[in-house]
Amino acid sequence: MHPRNYLILNVDDYTPGRYARTKVLRQAGFSVIEAASGAETLRLAGEHKPAVILLDVNLPDMSGFQVCRQIRQHPEIAATTILHISASSIQVAHQVHGLEAGADGYLVEPIDGSVLIATLNAHLRAREAEDALRRSNEELEAFAHRVAHDLNEPLRTMTAYAQLLDHSLRDEVVSGDVKASIDNIVAASGRMRSFVDSMLQYATVRGNRSEPAVIDCEEMMRRILANLTAAIEESHAQVRWDPLPSIYGDAELERVFQNLIGNAIKYRREGVPPEIQVSAGQADGNWVFSVRDNGIGIAPEYQDRIFRLFQRLHGREIPGNGIGLAIAKKVLDAHRGTIRVESRPGEGSTFFVTLPRVEARTAPAV
Ligand code: ADP
Repeated sequence: MHPRNYLILNVDDYTPGRYARTKVLRQAGFSVIEAASGAETLRLAGEHKPAVILLDVNLPDMSGFQVCRQIRQHPEIAATTILHISASSIQVAHQVHGLEAGADGYLVEPIDGSVLIATLNAHLRAREAEDALRRSNEELEAFAHRVAHDLNEPLRTMTAYAQLLDHSLRDEVVSGDVKASIDNIVAASGRMRSFVDSMLQYATVRGNRSEPAVIDCEEMMRRILANLTAAIEESHAQVRWDPLPSIYGDAELERVFQNLIGNAIKYRREGVPPEIQVSAGQADGNWVFSVRDNGIGIAPEYQDRIFRLFQRLHGREIPGNGIGLAIAKKVLDAHRGTIRVESRPGEGSTFFVTLPRVEARTAPAV
């Protein structure tokens, strides 16, 4: 038996070929299940969650490329290692297409048994390293979550007592210093509270572990505007959007856009009311959203750095924790999306968010 007893889904509609491959795999100690069509592959992948799918490119009901794309769109099985297998007559362009459609590797028949096993083992080693990294990240997140959570309680107590002190000294004659000290305690605990809240938000990004649903982006914009009412009114911001699509994704994506629009208002130029434009288009199978502002802009040397945790380009004159864009990046990483900025100091910034286009109806039932 293979040390980790990995389950392989062996997909081929040509029975003798499938049979021979299964035999080689079992001899090498893998557990194997088989499928002869695309629909069967999607069903078995959802039910058994195999470590690797050996996927014949030519299936009777759909192409291996389509199967691969659908698997990649379903969060629960999206990380499955997929190796395409095709006849030697297949052209280079097909191989490129297969890999670009999301396969992890491409093998061409006839495949020597030892090459097949060595290739599988190489992919499984990479997968084990990835799993270890994911586990260590999860532990770190749990730690951050615990710390942030446990800090909340003493922080609340501190704030409450400082306010009580302030209240009881109201009618006393106390020096301005005492008053200023209490104000400082209240302000500092307020800042710490907002920091702890953001840390909690960062630590609890669920990524693709939650159920995706249809998000009407125009409705999402209206909710975001309602949440940001105070900032919008205070700054006289204008937030407009072009027609926006309904996308299939995770409710967490709303945090991304709320952070971007909140920042577009916060980092405005003095005396210039923020004008913010949200647009959406499509490119290469992705949704591409943009959030453009007319604010202070970001110098080129900082345009990568701002997406890292705790990176701020400002002092206390503009409140913030340097966590908002790190949350946005973490959410998008988990959804196989990207975020970047184009900006010129003094002229405003445009943040671009890309997300794979996922169709609700094509997701396999898992
Ligand atoms: P925060 O706003 O809490 O500081 P973020 O992670 O949201 O943290 O942003 C990181 C930094 O990126 C900000 O401190 C700011 O310097 C810069 N930044 C973000 N959005 C914009 C924007 N729209 N215009 C100019 N600078 C921005």
